[in-house]
Amino acid sequence: MNVLVINAGSSSLKYQLFNMDTEKILAKGNCDRIGLDGHLKHKPVSNDKPVFDSPIPLPTHAEAIAAVIAKLTSDEYGVIDCLSEINAVGHRVVHGGRKFSSSVLIDQEVIAALEDCIRLAPLHIPANLMGINACRESMPNVPMVAVFDTAFHHTIPESAYVYPIPYKYFEENNIRRYGFHGTSHRYVSALAINELGGNAEGTKIITCHLGNGASLAAIKDGMSIDTTMGVTPLEGVPMGTRSGSVDPSIVDIIAAIENCSLKDAMDVLNKKSGVLGIYGKSSDFRDIETAAGIDISNGNPKPDADVDKKAALALDVFSYQVAKFIGSYIVSLGGLDALVFTAGIGENSPYIRRAICSRLNGIGIKINETVNAVRVSEFLDITGDDSIAKVFTIPTDEELVIARDTIEIVAP
Ligand code: AMP
Repeated sequence: MNVLVINAGSSSLKYQLFNMDTEKILAKGNCDRIGLDGHLKHKPVSNDKPVFDSPIPLPTHAEAIAAVIAKLTSDEYGVIDCLSEINAVGHRVVHGGRKFSSSVLIDQEVIAALEDCIRLAPLHIPANLMGINACRESMPNVPMVAVFDTAFHHTIPESAYVYPIPYKYFEENNIRRYGFHGTSHRYVSALAINELGGNAEGTKIITCHLGNGASLAAIKDGMSIDTTMGVTPLEGVPMGTRSGSVDPSIVDIIAAIENCSLKDAMDVLNKKSGVLGIYGKSSDFRDIETAAGIDISNGNPKPDADVDKKAALALDVFSYQVAKFIGSYIVSLGGLDALVFTAGIGENSPYIRRAICSRLNGIGIKINETVNAVRVSEFLDITGDDSIAKVFTIPTDEELVIARDTIEIVAP
């Protein structure tokens, strides 16, 4: 069976077509600048056909889906003969609110419930719905599944998800901790559990999804019991452009300083803060490490390199905050069996892994410096001698989780 995985943003749409008998990718790509001039990059993976990478008019998500289907089935760039070879579609949906605690088959009732979640994710849900509606129009007879970023965190106990604000906002307006990156935390924690012997019961794991967006999860017995992101993906550790947790009064203070609206002040926290806010020139960790005089291939300082102080500070603030949450989650879990690093930075930055773990030496977490410096795109055990917990680097695969959930629902 083939499953098309769709991740629709407001002006972009990423896709991967999986053959789920082998779990191999047949083709992948992305539509960009939807609603503007439009661009499609399509890469066949299962054959030697060429990459398509050109501007193409994409006024709406409907044209984007039509262009994707045309490429997937074309003689020149295709990997399947016709549309009927797409057996199901899995959609990444950012927010499932209080209603969705697992993936669901999409029908009219689910779409109505998603519309109810718009207030919790006003930028993301409308974009996800545009992707869903466009696919339903192009493929009316193909079953579609919604896979939620929030679902894995539905096991978080009340003590961790209720905010200490007037309770009516939870009861009447659904304001609570939801958490995000659920498919990633679920995927890498399952692999860590396998490595620990395969039995989830009794396991205590902290997963660090460190990418442009970053979040940590505390996972006990295979279930999320706390996570750093909140009602939106702004809370928690500092990120590429997002501040993470700060004193909420800062919003009011920035609005007064800039003489701007609260919404514009929130934009500062969402788009101009995090490591970009401190360093000022880039949100990309490769740039920031390089500016801080680090050799990104092994995470070591380059001899005689200039060190940009703000770049070094941005890395320090980031690793300090991540280490601080790890410490607090060891309390939440009552111990630790495995610490997992994943996503762009977690998988690829020996420097950041070392900077975080060196702050955890005092509580007995140690990494093997030699293995940590190796960069491979596969599972890596970087645990050091006498460490109280295993430390793993595990590449995440959110699209594969979406494709697996889709198959499980449409063809159990
Ligand atoms: P993601 O959102 O998971 O794609 O992660 C993107 C982040 O990973 C960006 O900040 C990249 O700079 C970072 N990243 C990717 N490769 C490396 C690397 N070799 N060293 C440091 N950071 C990296």
